[in-house]
Amino acid sequence: MNGTAAPTRVLVLNSGSSSVKYQLLDMADESRLASGVVERIGEEGGVPDHAAALDRAAAELRERGLGLDSPQLAAIGHRVVHGGTRFTAPTLITDEVVDEIERLVPLAPLHNPANITGIAVARRLRPDLPQVAVFDTAFHATIPEAAARYAIDAETAEKYGIRRYGFHGTSHAFVSAATADLLGRAPGDVNVIVLHLGNGASASAVRGGVCVDTSMGLTPLEGLVMGTRSGDVDPGVLLHLERVGGLDTDEVDRLLNKRSGLLGLCGANDMREIGRRMAEGDESAQLAFDVYVHRLRRYLGAFTAVLGRVDAVVFTAGVGENSAAVREAALRDLEPLGIVVDSVRNAVRAAGPRIVSAPSSRVAVAVVPTDEELAIARDTYELALRQ
Ligand code: ADP
Repeated sequence: MNGTAAPTRVLVLNSGSSSVKYQLLDMADESRLASGVVERIGEEGGVPDHAAALDRAAAELRERGLGLDSPQLAAIGHRVVHGGTRFTAPTLITDEVVDEIERLVPLAPLHNPANITGIAVARRLRPDLPQVAVFDTAFHATIPEAAARYAIDAETAEKYGIRRYGFHGTSHAFVSAATADLLGRAPGDVNVIVLHLGNGASASAVRGGVCVDTSMGLTPLEGLVMGTRSGDVDPGVLLHLERVGGLDTDEVDRLLNKRSGLLGLCGANDMREIGRRMAEGDESAQLAFDVYVHRLRRYLGAFTAVLGRVDAVVFTAGVGENSAAVREAALRDLEPLGIVVDSVRNAVRAAGPRIVSAPSSRVAVAVVPTDEELAIARDTYELALRQ
């Protein structure tokens, strides 16, 4: 590349509560030049804080000759977890935008502060570059009020910003669009139920490329059973734990976020381990699997009714892409809903997007690998080019 060519590289930073993930992509051909993760922030053996984690990431890139000072870097994209009702699209970062993300901290106390630190360090290192915030909530901003509102006192809800925001939006957007591609149809013509099943898990109903419902709510705790998070519980359970169990707020928080889900039910949060234990006849692993699958089926039914017509059900993220057993169990005996899985196709392990339903299935069943970093890089590059 000669020195005058326009820069095409984008650095994507994902500052989580205890780790910083980074990827450097060349948007000329969407190739990945580098990726890495700095883990155990604030824990023993790790770096002390997020600023140090970002310095470490920058140093790792420098060692590979890909330092942040490179003239080939066009922009930096930041995953930001909570955009509230204000941010409904990727946004060029300014001081005012940072202030607004700061104001949203009470809605995402573990995540937004980490995101803000990431932004601050990156802006300090490259104040000349466009930096873009891509929000996890943005894709869900189109959800109609009937689905977004909780049926609680309206004034209280308004005062505290209590409504359903949804998360994993970048993944749901990427995967629903890729599914339309896979079907050879325009995104505007297809209705898709996306099942993003990773450590965190969420479902969304996407009508013609527009999100109309999702399983996560005010926080990423609502909805499906996850690795360590409960998903839906009767809110009365919390009251019961406080009143009868004497648990305080932090204890309830830890219980529902860290000691529940698959882990809470059977002591393991990795679907691979659960599969191995089930094969040995382990009853608690079987129960965890059954609860997980039951919840999935419940959302599948709910979102089928929300959409009316469903063209595709698509599985993505660690469990969705890799666990044929979960896909099979989630869709078993759903022929009355027009869903017929081809067991042979479903069992084949493959890397790319693929259809795993039978030709007779009215609803296509697809497996589409998600790529949130690529999606963030695309959004970032597109905005940067407009500067
Ligand atoms: P994150 O939400 O952290 O991005 P991933 O989408 O990578 O997580 O999903 C991680 C989870 O995927 C693991 O905890 C594990 O349960 C599951 N997983 C990964 N590989 C497999 C596999 N081959 N079979 C079943 N489950 C898998």
